[in-house]
Amino acid sequence: MSAPFVTRFAPSPTGLLHRGHAYSALLAYQAAQAAGGTFILRIEDIDATRARPEFEAAIFEDLAWLGLSWPEPVRRQSLHLADYEAALARLQGEGLVYRCFRTRKEVAQATASAPHGAMDTFRSAPLPAIEEAQRLDRGEPFAWRLSLEAAAARLGGFDQLTFQEEGAGPDGETGLICARPELGGDVVLARKDVGVAYHLAVVVDDALQGVTHVIRGCDLFEAAHVQRLLQALLALPAPVYRHHRLLAGPDGKRYAKRDRAETLQALRAAGLTPERLRQEVGL
Ligand code: GLU
Repeated sequence: MSAPFVTRFAPSPTGLLHRGHAYSALLAYQAAQAAGGTFILRIEDIDATRARPEFEAAIFEDLAWLGLSWPEPVRRQSLHLADYEAALARLQGEGLVYRCFRTRKEVAQATASAPHGAMDTFRSAPLPAIEEAQRLDRGEPFAWRLSLEAAAARLGGFDQLTFQEEGAGPDGETGLICARPELGGDVVLARKDVGVAYHLAVVVDDALQGVTHVIRGCDLFEAAHVQRLLQALLALPAPVYRHHRLLAGPDGKRYAKRDRAETLQALRAAGLTPERLRQEVGL
């Protein structure tokens, strides 16, 4: 018997799908078919402030139009918050996360002096117990961040942390990759507003759904570094990654949710067929 092959397409219903999404979903679907495996659709709707039912409905419609099918029921992250809370509780129990009360502006200020000055290089530490208790008393909102320092101490550094890349990162990174979660800083694992955040939900779901191959755009290659770390900390299996190139339009810019004319809905209305679309994206 061949090894199981489970891959997923995991859109966030925060806009209409475009050609880039079609390419990603088709690649994953074809890979599953070629391997005699399973293609899963997952709706990543934890961001209640941006997810909309009409975008979710459009995802189903667009993918069916492309000729894809998937097992039901489809997992919607918003219905499984307890799973993410349990994973967070485990990290809390091991002292691997800390409360961060800073506002976006404060985080930006704190990182402005860092070599790259990027928000995502933010690193900090738990507040002194007294200050934290005072802030909690005042009802100040906080996020939970992963402590890279605590994670490194727990794993004895990140040197042994690797993942298998069968596609390529933005700079052609492929093969056995040394994970460098420190590039992303102390990422937020539970947002102030929704109690969970992308990286945590993704690793929990990929494990729960038995995902063996993560096929997605190379704009998420960096995410694999921190996601691999979370898998190690939570003792979850590590999937193989296949990051793919991002499609660009005639102007050389990659497709984005804001380009109305390039949405699958608009293209369909303009008479494009799924066959033609497959050809155009080289599949
Ligand atoms: N939900 C993410 C997005 O729409 C994709 C997550 C993933 O593939 O890991 O960008």
